[in-house]
Formats: sequence, C-alpha cells, structure tokens
Amino acid sequence: MFNERLREPERILIIDDSPSNARVVAEALRGQAEVHHASGERAALGMARSLKPDLILLDIAVPGRDSRAVYHALKAMPPLRDVPIICITGKDADDDQLQALGMDGADFLRQPLSVQETRARIQTHLTLQRKARLLERAAQDMSDMRRYFPVFIAYWNADLRNISCNDAEGCWFGLPAADMAGLHARDALGADNYRAMAEPLRQALAGSDALFESRFSRPDGEIWYGRVALISRGANVLMMSIADVTDDKRTQHALFDEKERARVTLNVLADAVIATDDDGRVTFLNPIAENLTGWQFDDALNQPVDMILLLRNSQGRALPSPTHLALAERRTVGMALDCELQQRDGGLLAVVGRAAPVMDHAGRPGGAVVVFHDVSEARAMAVRMTHLAYHDALTNLPNRILLQDRLLQALQQAEQSGERLGLLMLDLDHFQLINDSMGHAVGDQLLQLVALRLQQGLRPGDTVSRQGGDEFIILMPGLGSIEQAGMLSEKLRRLVAEPFQLGESRYDLSASVGISLYPDDSRDADELYRHADAALYHAKQQGRNHCRFFSGEIEEALLTRQALERHFRMGAEQESFLVYYQPKVDVEDLSTVGVEALMRWRKEDGAILAPAEFIPLAEKTGLILPLGQLVLRQACLDGKRWHDAGCDLHVAVNVSAMQIAAAGFCEQLRATLKETGMAPDRLQLELTESVLARDVELTMAMLSELKSLGVSIAIDDFGTGYSSLSYLKSFPIDVLKIDQSFVRDMLSDSSSGAIVAAIVRMAQAMGLSLVAEGVESAEQAHALARQGVRIMQGFYYGKPMPVEEMDRRLS
Ligand code: C2E
Ligand code: CA
Ligand code: CA
Repeated sequence: MFNERLREPERILIIDDSPSNARVVAEALRGQAEVHHASGERAALGMARSLKPDLILLDIAVPGRDSRAVYHALKAMPPLRDVPIICITGKDADDDQLQALGMDGADFLRQPLSVQETRARIQTHLTLQRKARLLERAAQDMSDMRRYFPVFIAYWNADLRNISCNDAEGCWFGLPAADMAGLHARDALGADNYRAMAEPLRQALAGSDALFESRFSRPDGEIWYGRVALISRGANVLMMSIADVTDDKRTQHALFDEKERARVTLNVLADAVIATDDDGRVTFLNPIAENLTGWQFDDALNQPVDMILLLRNSQGRALPSPTHLALAERRTVGMALDCELQQRDGGLLAVVGRAAPVMDHAGRPGGAVVVFHDVSEARAMAVRMTHLAYHDALTNLPNRILLQDRLLQALQQAEQSGERLGLLMLDLDHFQLINDSMGHAVGDQLLQLVALRLQQGLRPGDTVSRQGGDEFIILMPGLGSIEQAGMLSEKLRRLVAEPFQLGESRYDLSASVGISLYPDDSRDADELYRHADAALYHAKQQGRNHCRFFSGEIEEALLTRQALERHFRMGAEQESFLVYYQPKVDVEDLSTVGVEALMRWRKEDGAILAPAEFIPLAEKTGLILPLGQLVLRQACLDGKRWHDAGCDLHVAVNVSAMQIAAAGFCEQLRATLKETGMAPDRLQLELTESVLARDVELTMAMLSELKSLGVSIAIDDFGTGYSSLSYLKSFPIDVLKIDQSFVRDMLSDSSSGAIVAAIVRMAQAMGLSLVAEGVESAEQAHALARQGVRIMQGFYYGKPMPVEEMDRRLS
C-alpha cells in the first residue's frame, strides 16, 4: 500500500548520561538507523521534540534523576505518544522492580547492553511500529471507503449466521451491525431480500463465487438495486458485498423509457424522419419516411442517405442531401425551396425539410437527422391560389392586378422599342337588362362566351382582362399604327355583335369601345386608363355599339384616312381627287406664262379639302404614290390640251420626296409623257429643298436622269430648307421659287427683304429663273419687280382654280 522503504532512515534517540550505551546502540544499528544521543533531562526532551524519533532508549539507571517523570514527559508529547520507549535498567533490576516503575508499555534492556540483543530488540520494536502504522492506515482507508463508497459488507458463517457487518447504523437493512450479529441471513436481511439471494448464497457456500444484481426493498418499502458479490473466505466464512446501483439502474430505465418514447413519437409523427451515422449512412427510417421514399427500413439500413433521400430541383438537377452539409458545418440545413424527392419507383414529390447534426457527449457530430414532409398538395394549392389572385373567377381571364402588371411591363418595353400601345375599354351595351330579365346565371354564361370570343379575336401578345361586371380591358402592345388599333377594336366590337346561342335562345349583344394610345394620348398607365374610360363614355354617348379614340385628332385622322382608303378601294379616285391650277404671271405684260397643279380632295359630302389636310396622311399610308401619279397624268393631259389650243405655257407639278424615292419614278414619268403626248420641255417638276438635302450623289444621279427626259426642275419653298448652296450650284436646276413667307414679310421685315434680295442676286449669278410665291398685293409685286423678279404667283394674280375656270381664263 505504501512503500515504507521510501521513508528516510529511522531515527533512534538514546537518552543516557554515559556514552558507552550509545556506542553499543550505534554499533548495533550501524547502517540501519540514525542514532542520536542526548544527556541531561532538558536537552533530551528538547531533542525528542524536534527529532521526532521512531524509537527512544531511556537510561533509567541514572542516579539522581526521576526517570519516571522523563518517561511520562515523553509520552505526553503528542507526536511521541505511540513511539516505543525501551528503558535501559541496571544489571540487577528484576521484573518486580521494573513492574513497580509503572511505565506501561515500556520494554526493558538490562545493562550491560549486548550488541546482538539490543539490535534484535530495537528491530522488533521498529517492525512492530511499522506494522502498527500500516494497519492504522489500512483501517483509515477502510473507513474512508465505507464512507465514500456505499457498499454493505458482511461476513457469514456456514449456517448463514451473521458474523459481522460494516453497517453500524443499520442504514442498509434496518439493523445496526450489533443487532445483526448472530442473526440468520433471512432475519438479518429481510425475507424478500433473502429469497432473491438464496440460490447464489447456497452456491457461494458450495464454493463458487457469485456476482449479480438484485432488487432490494428497505423496511419502509423503498426499492433499491444492488450489485452483489458473494465470495467464500475459507470453508466457513462467506463475504458479502452489496454496492448500491440504484442511480445507475434509474438512469438505465430512464434511458430505456426515453428511447421508447422517441421511437413511438417518431412512428406516429406526420413528418418523415431519417437518421444517419456520422458517415451519412442510414440508421433509422420512420414509417412516413418509408412511405415517402418508397424504401423499407431493412433495405435502407446502412445505405448512403443520398440514395434513399434522392433530391432534385424543379429542373430535375440532383441536389446534395442536406445531411452532409449539416454534418460538415455542424448546423441545421434546410432543403432547397423547389426541392423534389425522387421516390424509389421514380415518382416525384415536392418536399420541404431540414437536416440537423446530432452531437455526441464529446460535442462531435455523431450523426444527423433529416425531417421532411410532402408539400405537393400545398404547392399545388399555392399555384391555384396565385392563379386565383390574378384571375377573374368567372371567366378565368386575367384580373385588374395582372393587367396592371402587364401594362407596366408593356409600357416599359414600348418606351424602349418606340412602339405604340393600345388600351381598350370594352363595355357591353345594356347588359344589365339581360341580367335583370334572364337572371344572373344566363348573364354569367354570356360573359363567359364574350370572354372566349374576345380571346379568340386577339393577337398572341394581347391581354384581355375582366374588371368585374360587363367591362373588359384589353391591352394591345406593339401596335404598328393607329389604324391597327382601330381595326382590332372594330374587330372586337363586331365579334361581340355576332349573335350568341345559349341552349335554345339567341342573344344579340353589342359593345362600346374606348381606346387610348401610348404615346399619342399619354405615357402614364393611370392616365391611359382614364383616357380609355373617357373615350368609352363618348362611345356610349354616341349611341353605343361604337369604337371611339380618346383623342379627337386621332379619331379625325383615322376617319379621314379610312375615307381616303375607301375612295381608292372603290376606284372613285377620279371623281374624288381634283387638280386645281394657279397661274404664274409675267409682271411685264401680265401674260400667264405657266400654271401650277395643286391637288384637291372632294369628300362624299361635297366639301373640298386642301392638301394640308390629307397629304401628310397620304404620305404616311403610301397613298401619295397613286395620288401623285394621278395629278401628274391629269396635269399632262390638261397641258397637252392647252398647247394644242395654242397656249404657250408650262405646267408645274409638285412631286413629294416619297415619289422621287420610289423605284421607277423616272420610268413612270417617261411613260406618262408618252401616253399623254405632253411635251417634256413644257413640264416642270417642283421639288422641295428636303429632296436635295439627302445623299449628294444619289440626288445628282436622280436629277440628271429627270433632266435627261427633258423636263425642267424648280426648287419649291426656297430659303426655308437647309440646302447647301455649294451643291445647289452643281445641281441641274432651272428655277428657284422664293418661299411665300419671305414675300409676305418683305415689306414689314427688313431681314425678309434682305433674304429676297440675296436669293434674287444668287439666282441671277447662277443663271436660274425666279418665281415669287404668295404674292397677294400690288406693293409686293412692285417690290419684287424692283428687285428683278419677273414671274409672280399668288392670290393677287389668281387663286388656284378648277380646270374649267383655267380653261376660261386661258381662252
Ligand atoms: P406649294 O407647292 O408651295 O403650293 C402653293 C400653296 O400656296 C398652295 O396651297 C396655294 O394655294 C397657296 N397660295 C398660292 N398663292 C397664295 C397667296 O397669295 N397667299 C396664300 N396665303 N397662299 C397662296 P395648297 O394648294 O393648299 O397646297 C399646299 C401644298 O400642298 C403645296 O405647297 C404643295 O407643297 C402641296 N401640294 C399641292 N398639290 C400637290 C400635289 O399634287 N402633289 C404634292 N406632292 N404636293 C402637293
Ligand atoms: Ca409648289
Ligand atoms: Ca411653295
């Protein structure tokens, strides 16, 4: 237990006045102990106190000293109480004498000391002393053990009668050790406790030790558990030790209960649960997990979790199981939002879930648990809900929210592409009457049919939405032209106007449509709604069953254009489009030296429209080409007629930039000249500066080609454009027509006068003829003439007039 050898050598103190004894002792113990010598009573006690010797030799044969008092003084020092004292006596002392000294427990050595006897005696004492110390320590250990480790220890004889036990207070079986002694085990331990141990006790007595756990009860009924060891100690003694393991037992039971609870919980849980080890291999699958994955627990056990929990995203790409991430990062990891589980049979299930690492007692991830559930239905429901949120329940058309979204998107796109966008409000006329007379069921069915027709009548990119009631809003992005908006809305209006059949009954509906356009009417979504609404209001006011644009101008322009086209479609252009002529007069003799052909449009109601009202439209629609050709041909016919009648004048025809740019203009001109017999040198083409402002080489080629036909060329509205004077010089031009605005202002505004003067000088320098346009008064004519202009055109000399009038004037 303790290594005594590690102790320092034992110390012996000899208290003696003569050194001879000390010499013998030192000799006797040479190399085995330190021998210290003290003489004199006081020195001896002081030394004993500081030295703490293991053994003291006290010479009591010193005359004049009370050896007894010294002995007791030594014994009274606490550290020396158990130190053996050997008294050295005179050589004649006998046992009775020694007895009389009354020194209990002391041993005696007679003088003269013999080395052998002294050594033997001292060693015996030292050995005893050591043993006593060991025993004392063992006893202490034992009592500590009993105190700190709850073990009941008892010894029994062959009849199972108690010899002894360590339970002084009777804590274990209700009987203190003293009362237990002599009792049979049945009575000592209690009948129940004995019965549980009877068999092992019998076996242990027969020689085979037993180690087992047993359930015990205390006298008060409390149950406890003990680990029992029965060990035979020789033939007649049996040692019994019982350690209380109630706490362990309880922990075990609690653990069992806990596990059982977890097992039942997992099995009744509505969520699927898969547990894995730290390697991601499956250790557990609850029934729901079996159900969802299609894997039975037995098949899945020890398989990699990725094989059992096969996850994909909505594009079908495999996703890693969150288990590995949870293990690697030691945190809870959610599954991807669009996660789908591929079942064992290949089926797909929308799932959500998360994985968490399970830490062991040392704080390391010992495995992971994935919990997930099937959300297919919830996801489908969400899709349905979203659809409901953005659609009208009755017609399944987009509702206002979705329309608004699409409108904003379309506006953004239109802004980038520069395209036009139409917003139509379509309202069924008098629909309330049907609801009131036929009932809402019929009304609803009709609305569904209308919705269907509208959808069928639209282009793929259009959106028709129902706002509730009998009002529909239609979004038409990417419109090429206003006409297209007009045509599409007309088409919708007509579709609604066709009869509806519901069972046996036929219903005739009509609709009014209001149209607003981006960017013509507004660039703002709300304003487009308001404008469409206002237009719808006007359509209703007009007597319903109409389409109306928000803007009056657009409306007008559209109507005009439609009429224009209609006239052409009907082949009525000969009657509808007229050519007026305005004379050009030589101021010297007031003779008419030429005429300018100016187009007029006679509408169905007989009103005559000036070119400003329809030429821009004709240019936009391309109708300017047939119209221009019509004027050219008429002017040639009339010119030829006048020449044949002997009038020497030229005929000027306005040619728009679009006509010039069109392929085959020259060919057409040549053919017309030929067909009408008009002399080319009598025909003048009036081109605006804008025609010349294009590509120089192209213009040059074009003008040269025209000139090669023999016709002359005039630049119309000269001074308002940006033609470069340098090029002007090289172009084959014959006439400059000074623009009306300078003529109008030349008398009141000096800069206009200066411009006129400059144009005149330039024309003279370049050898070009001059015509002044818009001459309205004699003063203007005089001023122009003073500058050197000879040919005048303007109301002062004659307004544009029908051909009959010109005929009369010329004759
Ligand atoms: P333009 O070629 O400059 O024709 C002259 C315009 O001035 C004519 O208008 C004429 O009526 C007007 N005018 C003439 N004298 C006076 C005057 O003293 N005072 C005022 N205030 N105005 C006067 P109109 O007939 O309305 O024609 C307008 C424009 O339409 C023409 O301007 C021409 O550019 C275009 N145009 C006319 N006919 C044709 C055609 O057959 N083809 C093409 N491409 N353009 C045409
Ligand atoms: Ca002209
Ligand atoms: Ca002009």
